[in-house]
Amino acid sequence: MTENYRPTKAVIDLGAIKKNLSAFQQRSGGAEVIAVVKADAYGHGVLAVAKTAIENGVRLLAVATPDEALYLREQGVSTDLLILGATPPNFIQVAQRHNIIVTAVSLDWLAMASVNVAPELDTLKIHLKVDTGMRRIGVQLDEVDEALEFIADHEFGFEGVFTHFATADEADSGLFLEQVRAMNSVIDKLADPSIMVHVSNSAAAIMHPEMSFDAVRVGISLYGIAPSPYVGKEMPFELHPALSLETEIIHVKKVKAGQALSYGATYQAEQDEWIATLPIGYADGMLRGLQGQEVLVKGQRVPVVGRICMDQCMIRISEKLPIGEKVQLIGSQAGQRIFIDEWARKLDTIPYEIPCILTKRVPRVYS
Ligand code: PLP
Repeated sequence: MTENYRPTKAVIDLGAIKKNLSAFQQRSGGAEVIAVVKADAYGHGVLAVAKTAIENGVRLLAVATPDEALYLREQGVSTDLLILGATPPNFIQVAQRHNIIVTAVSLDWLAMASVNVAPELDTLKIHLKVDTGMRRIGVQLDEVDEALEFIADHEFGFEGVFTHFATADEADSGLFLEQVRAMNSVIDKLADPSIMVHVSNSAAAIMHPEMSFDAVRVGISLYGIAPSPYVGKEMPFELHPALSLETEIIHVKKVKAGQALSYGATYQAEQDEWIATLPIGYADGMLRGLQGQEVLVKGQRVPVVGRICMDQCMIRISEKLPIGEKVQLIGSQAGQRIFIDEWARKLDTIPYEIPCILTKRVPRVYS
């Protein structure tokens, strides 16, 4: 096992993921929870998250790309896998060989898949994606009949139908209701009741449990993060954030009044100040836009000062502290907490982006 000699790490609380999963299992009343583990489980580490999900009753994992699915198979994960995105012709037989479910994203895709399947291999398993208003991928509403007929006429293992909401995380969205109506009309066309219908992402699974159908696809909130401030405010159950980011002070010095620090010398000490250096920078995902963001030291909030460098950054502390003093960038320390949402606001983005931008250089350790 590789040692980490740098104290910067993301600590992933698998117990939190288990609690969130169980809350969704209860909320969706008997429907399957599909654990969405794309993008390395939203930066939390796909193998550990997949294992936790499977051990706690998940029977279908969703990824975004063929490579993500193959990686799980190579690592010995034998649970059913669904690729949510489009797959190319040269992947069709790979999917057949590795028992990977692929998404039929258009009529053209169905035609392509039908000529690329190898009849001597296991049947290609597909879920049909219907575009009810997201307008990203999926067959159009007026193509659904043709798609269903094409599927019936060919040797596919037709196992599921799904759609994806564009605005489930917003209050009073007309588009959401329009998508629901459209999807209900698609469901009415399905002759076979064993076909798995799944429409909800985290936001819909939280706000509209009546839309759970056979399964819900839960990504962001499996990791304890609310999909939007609106859903966060309305949460009917508690989410447990799984990811913490921590490091230690590696250098401390007094900077005299009037002296500047870091690239560009943009920060000038107003008085004599204690400045500590942290071994984390933008190459770890601590982007330059986080200048001014607070971190926790000894349970107190202190600011990141000066420009964030590639591998290091500086914080202003109120007293001299020893090398090795613990610093919490995301997560809790002595009763104080910094949520991922705070980083998202500082970077003018959504919480989804934050765990995804923590780079491979930051080891994920599990508690
Ligand atoms: N389903 C699809 C098709 C997705 O693209 C995503 C995520 O982007 C999800 C489900 C999970 O959504 P969320 O992370 O909001 O739960």
